[in-house]
Amino acid sequence: MQVKEEKKEPRNARYNSNSVALRPGSLVMYIDMNSYFASCEQQFRPELRDKPIGVTTYDGANASVIAPSIEAKRFGVKTGMRLSECRALCPHIIPVTTRPYLYRIVHVEIMRILQGYCSDVLAKSIDEAVINLSSYRLVYKDPIALAQKIKEDIYKKYDYIKCSIGIAPNSFLAKLGTELQKPNGLVQITPENIDTHLATLKLTDLPGIAGRSERRLKMIGINDPIQMRQSSQALLRKAFGGIVGYYWHSRLNFSEVDLYSHSQTRTMSTMRTVSRAQAESKQTLESLLVSLCTRLEQRMMKQEVFCKELSFFIKYRSKTGWDTHIRLAQPVQDAWELRRYILDRIHEFEHTHNVTAMFSNQVQSMGVAIQNFISDTALQYSLFDNRIQHDVVRKAMYKIKDKYGKNMVRKGAEMFNPTVMKDAIGFGSVKDLMLDGDEVRNQYLLEED
Ligand SMILES: [Mg+2]
Repeated sequence: MQVKEEKKEPRNARYNSNSVALRPGSLVMYIDMNSYFASCEQQFRPELRDKPIGVTTYDGANASVIAPSIEAKRFGVKTGMRLSECRALCPHIIPVTTRPYLYRIVHVEIMRILQGYCSDVLAKSIDEAVINLSSYRLVYKDPIALAQKIKEDIYKKYDYIKCSIGIAPNSFLAKLGTELQKPNGLVQITPENIDTHLATLKLTDLPGIAGRSERRLKMIGINDPIQMRQSSQALLRKAFGGIVGYYWHSRLNFSEVDLYSHSQTRTMSTMRTVSRAQAESKQTLESLLVSLCTRLEQRMMKQEVFCKELSFFIKYRSKTGWDTHIRLAQPVQDAWELRRYILDRIHEFEHTHNVTAMFSNQVQSMGVAIQNFISDTALQYSLFDNRIQHDVVRKAMYKIKDKYGKNMVRKGAEMFNPTVMKDAIGFGSVKDLMLDGDEVRNQYLLEED
């Protein structure tokens, strides 16, 4: 089986010492909780176990079932049906009003279990998570055994909540693996067995292929998933139009195009050259750092992501420099927090190396880069305790800025040194600054307009 070559590193990969680009031989595990909301209810209300229940958004005959239990599904009850329709198929269905807080608590516990095995766990939704095991291949030689261990751990905590696990070289195929066996499935898709699995499926069984895509495929003579997998990239590009065809070709040929899709870029970076006058003031240098972090915060807000890794560099006029890479304890979007991580690291270095001032008058430029993104929808459910409130406040602030103009609201952080901060306030109109070797294009981005 031909494995596609690794994707080209992004241009600014020089800060990306822990690149997320998946190498051939990557390994992804996808976990999908079965009939999640209904199973949670059955977990905590044993009288509902083994019974057809339908979780509804509110109490009433017209309510829609947002989550049928495994038992109700056997009667043909589907998500989205009205209770009256469900009763026609399954007269004994028990309606249960949804309790989202409960599902979030269970989600957090399950994420904790997964994170105990691997640091690279991404919550895809409240009932799905993907674990990138690529760097753990030597730790977990047998991924099936690992999946069984995870199931056991979940069983010990919640004996009624089951999951289907898919294992594959990329997240799309791993997710497909979860679809093949429900409930309580465990399927590994490999280059050797993929066609056996695909042979049992229709085009619309592939996650992401619905009526319209199916028609486009059939129009050019692709009638089933095996034919689709054997199609050239050019043909799939023709069917889907450009990049989407490339994605589909990649997915079915074991390359990763979905795992970090929430971030168009794998690294966001920003840097500033520092004038001699600016370098004379330590406070100005620290303000510049705040402005760099604020730009990144704005871009993360726009792309609706948080970052889990951070790099920082300082260059001095003597052509020497210092850089550092930080893995963040928790995903971060807030500029002030990014800054704190950087300053802590600087102080730590100053202390251990007996250097007095990293922010000296010799600073010529500095930059911050962030990577390893996680989508903020995935985070919503993770209950990052008091941080949620913080994030809500920040979001509200951006909304007001968008509506009434960016000078309407400024955080305390931005008032720190208004002249320096000025260029970091703009939001929504300017393209990312890119580092291009040592050259900086569009250095004066985010000008007030
Ligand atoms: Mg599910």
